[in-house]
Amino acid sequence: MRRIIIKRRKLVWGGVALLGLCSAVLLFATNFQLLRLSSSDIQRTTWASPNISWSLNPSNTIVYTGSGTLANETALTSVLNTAFSLWSGAQYQSTNVNTLSFTQGADNGNTSFASGDCVNSIGFSDTLGATGTIALTQVAVVFSTTPGSPAGSYSCSTGATPRTCPNEVCITDADIEFNKSYNFYTPSYSNPPGGYFDLQTVATHEIGHLFGLDHSGLANAVMFPYGDSGTGGIVHILSLDDEIGSAALYTNSSITSMAGQIQGTVSVGGNPAFAAHVVAIDAATGNVVTDTLADNNGSYTLRVFQGNYYVLTLPLATDTSGDSTSNGVTTIYNYNGFHSGYPSSTAVTNFTGKFY
Ligand SMILES: [Zn+2]
Repeated sequence: MRRIIIKRRKLVWGGVALLGLCSAVLLFATNFQLLRLSSSDIQRTTWASPNISWSLNPSNTIVYTGSGTLANETALTSVLNTAFSLWSGAQYQSTNVNTLSFTQGADNGNTSFASGDCVNSIGFSDTLGATGTIALTQVAVVFSTTPGSPAGSYSCSTGATPRTCPNEVCITDADIEFNKSYNFYTPSYSNPPGGYFDLQTVATHEIGHLFGLDHSGLANAVMFPYGDSGTGGIVHILSLDDEIGSAALYTNSSITSMAGQIQGTVSVGGNPAFAAHVVAIDAATGNVVTDTLADNNGSYTLRVFQGNYYVLTLPLATDTSGDSTSNGVTTIYNYNGFHSGYPSSTAVTNFTGKFY
């Protein structure tokens, strides 16, 4: 059994034109975590149970007094519960798509966001600085070093220990830190000051990481890695891509009869097109539904609901320097946080987009 900490961030991307731009250009996404992409043993990263508890970390009191826009703990709790409910209540054609449920526990007295305590803390942090990171979710996982075997027991510094991971990979702890270098507002503020971020949108994004989602490349998805301040950055509904992601990780049996998948292989010059961006487009509406990245064999699986789809393959951006604000597109950098094995140096990008 091995333990590792992974971090996902939501990043500021200036410019209100982003959403419009990217809904047309389409980037890339992955709906679920892939582990050890260098091997054939690819695993999703989930909690062992879909019933996940969380608690506020009141030691970071800035949320109540510092920014001046969040009146009290009640307001914060309300926003978080709404965000959690978006995920647990996700439906497709009036049918629940996942089995997620979330329970708020008593406030915890931790003085830091400890990844080894098996307590899912949510609060505000002053350690992130004005780095462009709006919020951060630190996710700890255990995984087996023997493919096909469960990770087994692991220890926690707080509460019951040891605990057991019955799967090859389990999330053991996930802490959400809102960056108090930035200002946030709740939906009750109808006219937020410029530069403020909608806390509910940011929380919904981070909760996606908390239960195992990686970023989406679809600009209408709450798991899109960039956020805007102001009312233009508000995302209060889940996209189909978000819903499919949650269903892929915690499938509700009720939707299996409506669900399917598109599988294929992308190759360039006869070689696997590792990290090719593959997008499913609804043939009837022309709307982008979901997308993913090809694995190291060039293979991809798009999980979709019943329907007819076109498939679009695109190269990732070639900028490997990180989250670029200069070219306005997301790169493979956005997908390497969960040690999913997407090395930026080996993404195959020497091809042009193709529509099928
Ligand atoms: Zn993120």
